Amino acid sequence: MIDLPHYTDDPPVDLKAHRLLLDLDPVASAQAGRDLQSGTCSCSTMTATPPWDDSAVFEQFDAHMADVQVDAHEAVAEALEQARQQARQAVVTEWNARVPVGTPVRYWTGARQGEGKPSRTRTAAIVLSGHTPVVWVEGEGSFIALTHVQPTDTEGPQ
Ligand SMILES: [Zn+2]
Repeated sequence: MIDLPHYTDDPPVDLKAHRLLLDLDPVASAQAGRDLQSGTCSCSTMTATPPWDDSAVFEQFDAHMADVQVDAHEAVAEALEQARQQARQAVVTEWNARVPVGTPVRYWTGARQGEGKPSRTRTAAIVLSGHTPVVWVEGEGSFIALTHVQPTDTEGPQ
């Protein structure tokens, strides 16, 4: 993870769940002649620091928040990928409900320009390699992305 904003300005980080809790240690403070506090986080996953000067406690808390930040971004990325997979599967499910095998289509192997080539679907649509909704059409040796296949009885944008 690089180039993240400071965790206080990073939306995926739930700041309310992470509050620095300070606990003044009277014995250590008396011995040192200054206030020493042990610090931990309200989320309870941060190991409490020994009685330290505030700056050292803050530093430890910042390190904890850096970990929290990385985890938060991983969770966001995972949720996003899951949503994308569901969207792809929904495209395929919708297609298969609407376009039975053998349906006349036009398709484009390059840019989707012009009339396209006439054909028929040879298979049901699938999500290829987990990322691209595709279907096989007659006359082609490989799958064509659904974005480049148009049933000829349902003209217009899908
Ligand atoms: Zn925390």
